[in-house]
Amino acid sequence: AQERYGSIREKPAVTLDGKRVNLVMNAGLMADLPSLDSSGAEGVGLFRTELQFLVRNKMPKRSELVALYARVLDAAHGKRVVFRTLDIGSDKVLPYMKATDEPNPALGWRAIRVGLDKPGVMRMQLQALMRAANGRPLTIMFPFVAQFEEYRAAKAEVDKSLERERILGHPLPESLEIGAMLETPSLAFAPQKFFEEVGFLSIGGNDLKQFFFAADRENERVRRRYDTLNVSFLTFIERIVERCNATGTPLSFCGEDAGRPIEALCLAAIGIRSLSMRPASIGPVKSLLLRSNLDEVRRVIGEARNRGEQSVRASVVDYLRNAG
Ligand code: PEP
Ligand code: MG
Repeated sequence: AQERYGSIREKPAVTLDGKRVNLVMNAGLMADLPSLDSSGAEGVGLFRTELQFLVRNKMPKRSELVALYARVLDAAHGKRVVFRTLDIGSDKVLPYMKATDEPNPALGWRAIRVGLDKPGVMRMQLQALMRAANGRPLTIMFPFVAQFEEYRAAKAEVDKSLERERILGHPLPESLEIGAMLETPSLAFAPQKFFEEVGFLSIGGNDLKQFFFAADRENERVRRRYDTLNVSFLTFIERIVERCNATGTPLSFCGEDAGRPIEALCLAAIGIRSLSMRPASIGPVKSLLLRSNLDEVRRVIGEARNRGEQSVRASVVDYLRNAG
């Protein structure tokens, strides 16, 4: 399938009305990295570091992590890689960590909550990332941040690790970007100061949608019940875009929906200019963006909303059909 899009692989995704959309890929294992070149992705927008923990039967050592992350950065040869710190708990349980018995794991002790309560593993990971960067630029993203204070606490851990590395005389990253995933509705309503302080935000659409509609993403009975192009959800995302624009906070979207062409088109139309998806989706998404006018798609979305439609999907699909 990727050969089909070979002719546009090196082309930047610029729409007919001249808007540039950054298309990056999701990854988690070394085996994903060759896709950086074959897909035409401009970088890794989400590196799920927990996957390398999940494929082992014991906790990796810091030196092993340094080697792994260095190989990831080597393979990216200068393209930006967004390392997401461990996102465990809920559906991702490490076999070698004490299991917690929780009635609602998706709403439970997971991701940054574990990282802040038991900071040992997070510190090891931060240090490993800094050593792997070894003087190169480094980008770190914290998952599942629900309130400003959690971001601040996580950021303080980064500063502490940086200081430790400095004292030990290790080379520091050439630059350090620290961001958060926006995957709980609460974070969209954080104080303005949060939007000013955070280095960037990435919408984790899989979780954000699950919590927005209160519909379990693992539950077959409800997971497809609500459309991502539902007017309420799009309006919510538009609000996030507005808040980020007001503070100049870089915003991307990295849930599975970013890789679905119609969804990607609508997200771009409402102002999200960086989409992170599985590598095989880059070609199809780019192909549609190259043929589209985002201002017109935005108008179609607005009209569907004004007509009181529940989802804008039918209107957008109609429009695309008529536009050829
Ligand atoms: C998300 O929630 O959209 C996301 C990208 O993270 P994960 O799917 O790993 O929870
Ligand atoms: Mg998530």
